[in-house]
Parts: sequence; C-alpha cells; structure tokens
Amino acid sequence: MKFADLHLHSRFSDGTYAPDDLAVIGRQYGFSALALTDHDSVEGCAAAAAACEQGGIQFISGTELTAETDGNEVHFIGYFIDVTDSGLLTALAKFQTVRQNRIREIVARINQLNIPLQAERVFALANCRSPGRPHVGRALVQDGFCINQDEAFDRFLKKHRPAWVPKFKISAQDAIELIHQAGGLAVLAHPGLNRNDDIIPDLVAVGMDGLECYHSKHPPVAVQRYLQLAKTYNLVVTGGSDCHGHSKGNPVVGHVKLPYEHVEQLCARVAHRRKGESSPSHTPSSHPT
Ligand code: AMP
Ligand code: FE
Ligand code: FE
Ligand code: ZN
Repeated sequence: MKFADLHLHSRFSDGTYAPDDLAVIGRQYGFSALALTDHDSVEGCAAAAAACEQGGIQFISGTELTAETDGNEVHFIGYFIDVTDSGLLTALAKFQTVRQNRIREIVARINQLNIPLQAERVFALANCRSPGRPHVGRALVQDGFCINQDEAFDRFLKKHRPAWVPKFKISAQDAIELIHQAGGLAVLAHPGLNRNDDIIPDLVAVGMDGLECYHSKHPPVAVQRYLQLAKTYNLVVTGGSDCHGHSKGNPVVGHVKLPYEHVEQLCARVAHRRKGESSPSHTPSSHPT
C-alpha cells in the first residue's frame, strides 16, 4: 500500500522542522507523497520539493489560509498552487504583515499583565515571515514566563484569554478564488475542528474542491462522516497529520496515512480544473480581451 501525508508545517510558519527534514522523516515512514502546507507561506516549498525529489517522494506544493464564513473560522489548504504566482505572493505578503502586527499586539497585551516579554524575542525565535501564536508561546517558555506551550495558550493566547487578539480573515470565497487563480485546489482543512458541517454546502457552492477527511484530530467516526460528505458533494478527499514538529509532541508525521488513490484523484482533479480554465468554451465573459 502507498500512503501520503498532505498536511505538514515547517519552520517557515509554526512548525519546527526544516522542509528537507520533513522529506527525510517522510521517507523513514515510507510515504509516497507529501505536501507542505505552511500557514500563509510557500517559502519552504522549493526546498521541500528538492528534498522530496532526492528521496523519491512525490511533492505537492501547498499553503494553509485562514478564512471566515458566517462568523466561523475555517482553514483552507491550497494544493498544487503555483508558488511563483504574483497574485498569490502579494496576498501572502499581506497576510504575513498582518501576522507580524498581530504578534506586536499580543505582546503588548502580555506586557500590560506586567510580563516583560519583548516582541523582538518572538520575531528572533520565529525567524520567519509568517509568525503565529505558537512562537509567542515558545518565547514565553524560553524566557521562563511559562512552564510549557499549553500553559502559554491556557493563560494568555487562546480565545478569550487576556492576550488573545482576533485574527484578520479573508472570506471563504476569496480564499477559494485566490487558490484557484494560483492554479490550485481549495480543500477545507480539519472540518472536524469546526463547529458545524452546515457550512459545507455553502462552501461547495462557492467552488470548494475537497475535504480533509483524514486528520490527526478526527476520530474514526468523523473520518467516515467526511468521506460520506465528500461523496455526496463530489469533493476530493485529502488527509494529513498537521504535524508542527517536535514542539507540541503531537500530532506527528506517521499519525495519518492517506491512501495513495486519493493523491491520484487529486492530480486528476487539478488537471481537469486547469483544462477547464484554459478551454475556450469555459472562458468567462468577465475576462475582456
Ligand atoms: P495563529 O495562526 O497565530 O492564530 O495560531 C494558530 C496555531 O496555534 C495553530 O495552527 C496551532 O498550531 C496552534 N495552536 C492553537 N491552539 C493551540 C493550543 N491550545 N496549544 C498549542 N498550540 C495551539
Ligand atoms: Fe499551526
Ligand atoms: Fe489549521
Ligand atoms: Zn495546519
């Protein structure tokens, strides 16, 4: 049997492994295909692609975007995106600036609690353009203000805690369009972590292509439910560990093994989508010549 892990974070967002480490670990676990899906970043994709090629592993470029629909936060993974697409890179640069400003705001709130954490410490530790709350947590631990990352989230960083700052989110429709314009497929990440499934038909209506049925935090009953929903709405099926490296302990590479047949279907779907877009009969009238 061949397997894939299509949800991995590297040090270019809030993961701890370098992209090439992920390829090495993926090879140790015998994966045939891997995707790098850093939050708001495609920076690690070139290195991951090269390392996967060397290890005889198929690589799929990706990024995980944060969006909103009907007041629900949802995450979309864009697969097969062109990592040189200027529209995508411009949008990602904007999301990264928003993330950096959010870190400053989170640190200011922590400072108001008389904890003298410095934003520069967080940025130095993150050492990437796409910092997130886990980096603040790690800085709080390193500087001795918290015992571990869980304490940092429980005391300060999670929703409704004193240093929580709402995150800027684009609409689900805009996220899907951005991914499509960069030649990719838009897949709803870890739907089991969302509050409800009622949003799924609405997301299908605005062009969503797939559902991440297999995920480290999906119990078997959730996997079955999403496989059924994927069938009902003709969505591609994906899955992955959502590995963030060794900082959180779990989940890690190897926890989710997506049967390879789904990768083949994903490849077929993206080829079909691209053909549809370049075919004259599908040229939208809104594209003036
Ligand atoms: P952000 O993108 O800055 O809002 O941070 C979200 C990231 O924080 C997620 O992708 C997870 O990696 C991590 N995260 C969320 N909740 C927790 C938690 N309770 N403990 C540890 N990490 C968390
Ligand atoms: Fe994350
Ligand atoms: Fe996510
Ligand atoms: Zn993720």
